[in-house]
Amino acid sequence: MAQKDYYEVLGVTDKATEVELKKAYRRLAKKYHPDANPNNKMAEEKFKEISSAYDVLSDPEKRKQYDQLKQMGQRGYAGGTEGYEDIFTRRGGKGQTFSYEDMGGFGNLSDLFSSFFDMGETTRKQRWGAQKGGDIYAEVEIPFDLSISGGNTTLEFRKEETCPACGGTGAKAGSKLSTCPDCGGAGMISFSQGGFAVNRPCPRCMGRGKIITTPCPQCGGRGQIIATKKLMLKITPGIGDGTQLRLRGQGQAGTGGGPPGDLIVKVNIAEHRFFERKGKDIYCRVPINIAQAILGTKIRVRTLNGKVDLKIPPGTQSGAKLRLKGKGVEEDGSKGDQYVEVVVEVPEKINEKQKKLLEEFAKETGLKY
Ligand SMILES: [Zn+2]
Ligand SMILES: [Zn+2]
Repeated sequence: MAQKDYYEVLGVTDKATEVELKKAYRRLAKKYHPDANPNNKMAEEKFKEISSAYDVLSDPEKRKQYDQLKQMGQRGYAGGTEGYEDIFTRRGGKGQTFSYEDMGGFGNLSDLFSSFFDMGETTRKQRWGAQKGGDIYAEVEIPFDLSISGGNTTLEFRKEETCPACGGTGAKAGSKLSTCPDCGGAGMISFSQGGFAVNRPCPRCMGRGKIITTPCPQCGGRGQIIATKKLMLKITPGIGDGTQLRLRGQGQAGTGGGPPGDLIVKVNIAEHRFFERKGKDIYCRVPINIAQAILGTKIRVRTLNGKVDLKIPPGTQSGAKLRLKGKGVEEDGSKGDQYVEVVVEVPEKINEKQKKLLEEFAKETGLKY
């Protein structure tokens, strides 16, 4: 059973943000949930597939490992993509196939693959050379006002780092490694599949031949920790919602002397209680009373930079959009406009005298009621 690409399963690209993943997952999970599809085997399978995919991709740690393995698979290691598919397949019960859980909390999949493919540093360097570090994807929400004025904001993001306590070995300081009892230290086990003898990295030691007797308490034996980093992010005035900023060299560290990856930040703009932005233009709604609508008036309207007077002509209808030229967002040297939607508010209660006057008004105007 060939396993599908997790990103394809969720119908997203491999650049999808956590929010996008969650959205895609929710939508699909709802559609294929067994409760919504009783006795539908296909939906059930699909639901499992979606859940497995989300389980891995929603965890930044697992996702990173998955991406790494996928990348290696695409480069033709491990015999095409089979390597990572098998590793992430949660089948179990198949004896020699090792599942993702087997590896949880122990070592790092990239370690596994480096020891799997080379069995020696020299080969590794010849085949791989320097590797650029992976990109990190982060999101930040900024206030609407900041998106207009520009300025600085603090970005928090998670980054994988070598565990400072064990220096990346995963073993508790001072503890010894012992020979893996499952593979006798070879790092590989062989089993037969479809009549062929196939070698696989040993699941117990993950190809290293040695097992950690006492895992490092700080990283749980992984050799890596997820650190929360803070960074000052510069917001340019008029930045659009969903803009992606690329901060070169702020991603994961490279290996073998390779350069670090990039940090890609998606900037989301928080909703404003009064303004709404569409491209360069700003939209807002302002209530006026019936007298103002009928007789006309001048009102003070809030704009991105201070309040201005807006003339309401006599006979203005509810829903009319009045334009404040040049009061929108500046972009590429030109400014958008602000559109003020006028909402005429009708009094909910009137007294007897007001009622009489209004009836008189109606009679005079020829209004039926
Ligand atoms: Zn550690
Ligand atoms: Zn082993």
